[in-house]
Order: sequence, then structure tokens, then C-alpha cells
Amino acid sequence: MVQRGEWEKVLQSNTLWLCTSCQICTSRCPRGVRPSDVIEAVKAIAIREGINNDSTRFHQIFVELIEKRGILFEPELIHKYGGLPAMRQQALLGVQLALRGKLSLLPAKVKDPQKFSQALSKVSKK
Ligand code: SF4
Repeated sequence: MVQRGEWEKVLQSNTLWLCTSCQICTSRCPRGVRPSDVIEAVKAIAIREGINNDSTRFHQIFVELIEKRGILFEPELIHKYGGLPAMRQQALLGVQLALRGKLSLLPAKVKDPQKFSQALSKVSKK
């Protein structure tokens, strides 16, 4: 679609947002294409163009929360994205994860907030 110039379809596509940036495609591409970089660039264009759908909204909330604390606090993400209905829907899973030590009930913080802010400002300037 990108090569055919179908930008509206590309920018509206939810498939774009399924990429988790795992970099496997980039590390395995025999031609050195770096597909994950292309996907990240197209995501950035979608945000800049003001594309508003569930995926872009989720992405913006995710980034906002990482910028705020440096570490994601999943209950806060669920609350901001889906509100109280989502919190209720995920409550049992949250308790199960907390009991297994996979989810903290309180937000964590980065060890060195100043270093994190410096790194973040470097990335933001790019
Ligand atoms: S497109 Fe590439 S970076 Fe994205 S999830 Fe798939 S393999 Fe990983």
C-alpha cells in the first residue's frame, strides 16, 4: 500500500499498530530493508496527521504514561484507555497477576529519574 501511494488506507490501518517493534523482521531481512523502521515511521506520520482511532489513542496514552514515570503502571493504562468498565473487566486478571508477582499494585519509578529525563529529552529532539 505504501509503494502504491495508498496513504489514507495505510494511516487508517489498525494492522500497523499490531507491530510490537520486536525487530525480528529487521534482524532477519536478507536485503537489509529494516521493515520495523518503516512501520515506526508510518506510525509517527499517522500521529502527526492526527489520525484518531483506538490504536493511535492507545499509543498516545502509552507514551504519555512512560514519559510521566519511566515505567508503565498497567492499571493506570487500562483506566486511561478503557475507563472503569475496562478496570472491572480486567480486575480478576490483575489480581491473579499480582498474586504471582507479575503486576505491582503500586506504580514503580525508574532508579534515576534525572537520567531518564535526560535520555527522554534526547529522544524527543530527534
Ligand atoms: S513487523 Fe517486524 S518488528 Fe513488527 S512485530 Fe512483526 S517482526 Fe516484529
